[in-house]
Formats: sequence, C-alpha cells, structure tokens
Amino acid sequence: MSDPSSLYAYLQFFRDLGVTDLYLPAGALAAKPSKPASAAALAQAVARPVQPMAVPAQAMSMAATAGASSASVAAARVSAKPGSEAAANLPAGAGPPSAPLQDPLPVLQGIQADIGDCTRCVLHKGRANIVFGVGDARAKVVFVGEGPGADEDAQGIPFVGRAGQLLTQMINNTAKGEGLAIARDDVYICNVVKCRPPGNRAPEPDEMSTCGQFLDRQLEAIRPKAICVLGGTAAKYLLNTREGITRLRGQWQEWRGIPVMPTYHPSFLLRAYNQDKKREAWEDLKKLFHFVYD
Ligand code: URA
Repeated sequence: MSDPSSLYAYLQFFRDLGVTDLYLPAGALAAKPSKPASAAALAQAVARPVQPMAVPAQAMSMAATAGASSASVAAARVSAKPGSEAAANLPAGAGPPSAPLQDPLPVLQGIQADIGDCTRCVLHKGRANIVFGVGDARAKVVFVGEGPGADEDAQGIPFVGRAGQLLTQMINNTAKGEGLAIARDDVYICNVVKCRPPGNRAPEPDEMSTCGQFLDRQLEAIRPKAICVLGGTAAKYLLNTREGITRLRGQWQEWRGIPVMPTYHPSFLLRAYNQDKKREAWEDLKKLFHFVYD
C-alpha cells in the first residue's frame, strides 16, 4: 500500500469497525523497509477524496492481528465479477454470513458527520440538501439508487418523488403479495451520490467515485443480507461493470461478499413504453425478498 489515499481508505475501514489500534506483524518493518510517507503526502491524502475502498490483502491479515472477527475479513473481499460463475450461483443459501459487526446507527452517524458540508465534487454547487439515506440501520436489505432528484434534494430524503412513490409501492406491494410483514420503513434506502446532479443527469464517474466511498462505508456498516441495486448507473458503480441493466437484472451478483440483486430503476418503469418491464422488476423483488426473509 504505497499511495496515501489507499492508506487513508484502509484506516477509515478499521475506524468504522471500531478498531482504533492496529499492530504490524512482528518483523514487518524489518522485512520490508519502506520510505515513510512525507507529512505533505499524508496531509494531502486526508484532504483529498479517496477512491472506492479496495481493502488490500494485508488488511485481512491485519484485521486478524487487530482482533477483528472473520466477518470483517469477509467484508474485505472484493466483488465477484458480474456474470461470473460464482456470482451466478450465489443465493441458493450460499455466501458468507452477512451481519453488522457493531451497532450500525452510530457508524452511519459518523459517516454522515464525515460527509459534513461536503464540497468534494461539483455537485455540491447546486444542492439544497445532502441526501444521506433513510430507513432501518439494521435493515436486511439496502436499496441503492443513483442520485437524488428535485424532490429528494428539497427534502433531504431519498426516493420521495414520483420514482420514490413507485419504489415504495413496489416494496410494500411485493412484500404484501408474498405474505411478508415488511414495508419501506424496514429497509434502508440510499444513493451512490448524495447531491442532486443538475437537470437530473446521470452522475459522472468521478462524482461516483468521490461520493461512492460513503456508500461503500454505509453498506459496510449495515452489512445487509442483500442489496438491491436500482438501474444501470448504480450497478455500474457498485458492481464495477459495463454490462447494461437489461442483461444484469434478475441475476444475482455480489459486492464484498453480499449478494446483490440488480433491477430496473423506478424512473425507467414510470415511462409509458416500459410498462411491460414492471413485471420483471416485480419478479426481481420477489426473488430478493424470498432470499432475505424466508
Ligand atoms: N432517483 C434516484 O436514483 N434516487 C433518488 O433518491 C430519487 C430518484
């Protein structure tokens, strides 16, 4: 881990886990003398937004050294490639156990405090409110959209506009239809970017990687049993893929050991010519809910 931003992401990962003391394995320094990072480089790392966290292999052994549980080691795994055999086979009861290591609420509050009055990317210029996330911090399912629209920006709450109302209906009606006693308030909902892109354009890759570090930390804090990714843009970020949502939807994928069900974005389903796609989205949610709640 030679660059300061990886070091920063690495330390952040442990801080969210509540691990504040890290010990190098005996002899690590002697075995591989490395140049200490300059004070200027470290200061720059702290001031600069970091790339989505990819916890390096050393992190796993250091997690063990630091006394973190095996669940956090599982958390350090990177996503399976979408469409890979491992991903395709995922939820027939497979996958590592997924559960938060500690109470997610204070961790989420800490992440929100770290976002602060963010000016890390250009999206801050047009926002009224940062839209962090809403729902149960101990949710078994997290829904991830792309970014706030006008209504969400005005209220500071994700998915409250027309697309949000459809998402709420989809969650509530699918659960009811399947005899599951859950509703929107029982899940957690957030977006890849927390500020509204102007004119509801899709977030740019640099905006997603800058803001996505906070989504990564939210998901690590909650460690839900499954994630539902809404639409191609969010799927691109979370699954690190160029595959379109039409190909991905309904097929289990994986993010750091957590099964991911991609489906259509509710805004897409609102368009008159996409009404036939609603049935597919409904099938995807049924698959998701049965995996999570059965
Ligand atoms: N679309 C999104 O992707 N997110 C929201 O919060 C609202 C609409």
